[in-house]
Amino acid sequence: MSTLEQMRAELQELNLQILDLMNQRAALSKAIGEVKRKQGTNKFDPEFERHMLNQIAEHNKGPFEDSTVQHLFKQIFKACLDLQQDSSKKLLLVSRKKKAEDTVVQIGDVKVGVAGQPLMIAGPCSVESLEQVREVAKALKAQGIGILRGGAYKPRTSPYDFQGLGVEGLEILRQVGDEFGLKVISEIVNPSDIEMATKYVDVIQIGARNMQNFELLKAAGRVNTPVLLKRGLSATIEEFIYAAEYILSNGNTNVMLCERGIRTYEKATRNTLDISAVPILKQETHLPVFVDVTHSTGRRDLLLPTARAAVAIGADGVMVEVHPDPETALSDAKQQLSIPQFNEFMSELRATKLSQI
Ligand code: PEP
Ligand code: MN
Repeated sequence: MSTLEQMRAELQELNLQILDLMNQRAALSKAIGEVKRKQGTNKFDPEFERHMLNQIAEHNKGPFEDSTVQHLFKQIFKACLDLQQDSSKKLLLVSRKKKAEDTVVQIGDVKVGVAGQPLMIAGPCSVESLEQVREVAKALKAQGIGILRGGAYKPRTSPYDFQGLGVEGLEILRQVGDEFGLKVISEIVNPSDIEMATKYVDVIQIGARNMQNFELLKAAGRVNTPVLLKRGLSATIEEFIYAAEYILSNGNTNVMLCERGIRTYEKATRNTLDISAVPILKQETHLPVFVDVTHSTGRRDLLLPTARAAVAIGADGVMVEVHPDPETALSDAKQQLSIPQFNEFMSELRATKLSQI
C-alpha cells in the first residue's frame, strides 16, 4: 500500500468513528428530548448550548480555528434538536404531506377544488354602483357563472385614487348576489372588519398587498367564511404557503390560493404570471388554486391565453375583471373586459378542449 493509500484508509476509518460518535450523540440527544417532554421543559436550552460551545473552544487544540469547530458543532446541535421535534408537528397544516386529498371548499352549494371542474370568478374591479354590479351579474348569470367579485375596499397605490365604497359596496354586492343567486367575494383590508364582512360576503378576499398582514390573516382564520388568499407582489411560494398556514392554524380550513403575478424586471405585462406556481402549490398544498389573469397581465389581449394556460396546468379556477363600461371604470380601466368581450372570452375559453369551465 502506498503512503497515500494508507493515509486515505486512515481518513475513512476516522470518518466512520466520527459518524459513530455523531449517531451516539443523536441517540442521547433524543433520549434527553424524551425526558424533557415528560418534564414539560423547553427542548432548546440556550445557556447549556453556550456552555458546550465554550467548552469546545477551551479544549480545541487545532489546527481548526475555534470559530470553525464551533460552527461545525452548532450544525450537529441543530440536527440533534431537529430530531427531538415530533416529526408530525413539523408538517404544515396546508401541506400535502399532512393531508393527501384535495381540499374542496364549499361556498354554499358551490364546490371549489373538485379535480377537472375549474370555476370562474368574475366581476368588476370595484363596486361603483348598484346598476353597474347588476349589469355584470346579469352577464355572469347568463354564462352560468356562480361567483361574483367586486372590490369595496380598494388598496390603491395612490391615496388620491378611488378607495372603494366600503360597507355600502358590500351591501350592493350582497343585494345583487341575492337577487341573481350568485355567491359574492370581496377584499377586506382591516382585521377589525372581518367579522362584519362575514355578514355580507360568501368569500373574503385577502389581497396581494396584505398577504403578510399577519393580524388580518389571523382574524380571517378565526371565522369560518372561505378565504381567497392572493400571492403577495414579491412573495416567494414559501412565503405564500406560510401566509395560508396563518389562516389554517387559527382554525379556518376553507382557504383558496390565488396566483396573481409577481413583480419582476419585465415591463411587457403589469406583473409576471408565475404559471408554474400553480402545479407547485398543488403539489405542496391540498388547497384549491386560482389564477387571476387580470392583475397578473394587466392586458386585455392576454386574458384568454393565460386563462387557457391556467386551466391546462391544473388551476381550480380563474379570476377575471368585467365592467359594463371599462373606459369609465374607477379602477383598472385598462384591463377590465366589457360585457361583450367577456362573453367572447368565455366562449373562446370553453371552446378549448381542455376546459370544462
Ligand atoms: C383585486 O383583486 O381587486 C386586487 C386588488 O388584486 P391584487 O390584490 O391581486 O392586486
Ligand atoms: Mn383590479
